[in-house]
Amino acid sequence: MDPSLAAELSSIIVAARAHLERENELGGPGLPLNEALARIAALSAKAAPVPPAVPRTATPDAPRVPMAQPAIQSERIAPAPSASVPRATASTPAGADDRVVRLSQLATDAATCTACVLHEKRKQAVFARGNPFSEIVFVGEGPGAEEDRIGEPFVGPAGQLLDRMIAAMGYQRDDVYICNVVKCRPPENRTPRPDEGIACSRYLKPQLAAIGPKIIVALGRCAAENLGVAKPEGSWRGIWGSYEGVPVMPTYHPAYLLRSPEQKRIVWDDLKLVLGRLGRPVPTPAGKRS
Ligand code: URA
Repeated sequence: MDPSLAAELSSIIVAARAHLERENELGGPGLPLNEALARIAALSAKAAPVPPAVPRTATPDAPRVPMAQPAIQSERIAPAPSASVPRATASTPAGADDRVVRLSQLATDAATCTACVLHEKRKQAVFARGNPFSEIVFVGEGPGAEEDRIGEPFVGPAGQLLDRMIAAMGYQRDDVYICNVVKCRPPENRTPRPDEGIACSRYLKPQLAAIGPKIIVALGRCAAENLGVAKPEGSWRGIWGSYEGVPVMPTYHPAYLLRSPEQKRIVWDDLKLVLGRLGRPVPTPAGKRS
């Protein structure tokens, strides 16, 4: 494609994304956001490479810039598609296209899902963030207010702690894939009800199957229960389980760790077990000798 045409197409895509987010925020008559973005993502995959607006991994803990700034919007408004529709690269694994298509379709379906009551109060469905080719997937409970507003999982204070845990494991923030049991925000941030978890398993199950991680980390009892590795009563944390043949390590939710920081040490023990099972070294904290 002619480079100047490609550049023009790229800027149209960026502007269209910004416009669609604004429509979505204002409740205007724009296209359903995730559906529209999935289409844009498909379009942009055909266009010349569009440089990312913001190098996200460079500033994992940086405060987020307000919605009104267009340069950032294009990066921030693409939660589901950016997590689910990576561009193919030379190192893209075999079967990648199929995975991209499946995840994109699931994100599109979730955006308009009405299978449970949670759809009634959502601003938008929150499908996932991160690398769909990751060997490790973190599954949380459900989006909170900030996630519902921005459209990405784990962007609030608990998400920032999760990012630090991920960094401590030796991954970049977007090396891993992160999603939730339910894709729509439970009102008042309550725990999703069992029927809501069951309704949303129509997305979680194929989502995890599409990614095919080596290990799943279940964040909190709700995730552990919905992945079938914890019973409603009894011990559950730190005990390996299995979901559809994939090993699952259930551990405490980062929101709980914010309230009970003394539990961070045992969560780190769980995460070290995960690293061991993946055959990855346990990083030594900067400044300390191993
Ligand atoms: N944010 C999420 O996306 N999931 C949680 O479980 C908590 C906060």
